[in-house]
Amino acid sequence: MRHAGTAIGDGLKMAVNAGAGVVGLDRFYGHLLSRDAIENIDLWPYPQIDAVATASIVVDQRGYRILDEGLGGISITNDLAQLDDPLCATVICDAPIWEAAGKSAQIPPNPQLLAAGGTLHQADTIEVLAEAAALSPENLAATVADYNDAVRFNRLATLLPERSTRSGAPRRIETPPFFAIPICAGITNTIGGIAIDEHGRVKRPDGSAITSLYAAGGTTGGLEGGGALGYVGGLIKACVFGLRVAEHAAGQFNREADILK
Ligand SMILES: Cc1cc2nc3c(=O)[nH]c(=O)nc-3n(C[C@H](O)[C@H](O)[C@H](O)COP(=O)(O)OP(=O)(O)OC[C@H]3O[C@@H](n4cnc5c(N)ncnc54)[C@H](O)[C@@H]3O)c2cc1C
Repeated sequence: MRHAGTAIGDGLKMAVNAGAGVVGLDRFYGHLLSRDAIENIDLWPYPQIDAVATASIVVDQRGYRILDEGLGGISITNDLAQLDDPLCATVICDAPIWEAAGKSAQIPPNPQLLAAGGTLHQADTIEVLAEAAALSPENLAATVADYNDAVRFNRLATLLPERSTRSGAPRRIETPPFFAIPICAGITNTIGGIAIDEHGRVKRPDGSAITSLYAAGGTTGGLEGGGALGYVGGLIKACVFGLRVAEHAAGQFNREADILK
């Protein structure tokens, strides 16, 4: 889990018990973390490994790529969580990626990963790196060679899985030292949730509004998700719908007060 310990689904469950519909619960908002974050509190909620993963490749223990890194960190995190073994993944990169993408975040894995005690394997060849990270050396060498060819000859779409470029242009993994980072999916909160209308009124599964029941923020769904896994930002969603709910509830109260006059 990658939240403050408070996003535990109580709001969602209370609304459902009151008859609410839900929307988009097949996706969540989260980021890639060092796998050591499961045991090491210093490694969550940061550093995120997203920028390094989207600039390089993510492989399983066989040394094969398992997902489209180009779709970005939130997408990779969702893909990992849906695997039969969500703890099978390792990011592989080289020195230029570690120096650039590795330092690009506000709290970057380079150097925060090592400083917080996270695992970072390093070697001068892909084969030795694979052995250190308990991956198949032959397969990993072949995977990296294929990937480098695809980048060089602009045939990313022929890779399996395909490598898109939504998160930026991929670069070849060819300059030692090479690095391997075991990762896991860090779940912040559901990206779907309670179905609401434009005033934050909670909707039943048939679309009608439940009188006087409102919801806002991380517990709600409908703004985000979808095939491209859009994330609008948790704070703006909470602020905008908190305000819309307050305005609508105040309007209702004023109307009822006028009627009673
Ligand atoms: C590490 C991290 C980094 C983030 N970075 C960003 C960022 O850069 N930009 C951004 O826009 N968003 C970010 N987010 C997301 C953002 O913080 C949340 O989306 C936002 O705080 C949601 O606001 P909220 O009011 O809906 O819910 P919350 O802030 O979770 O508030 C819900 C409140 O309800 C309380 N509560 C829960 N259950 C109960 C109960 N049963 N009874 C009474 N009270 C209860 C909780 O204690 C909590 O105080 C980040 C989140 C995390 C964890």
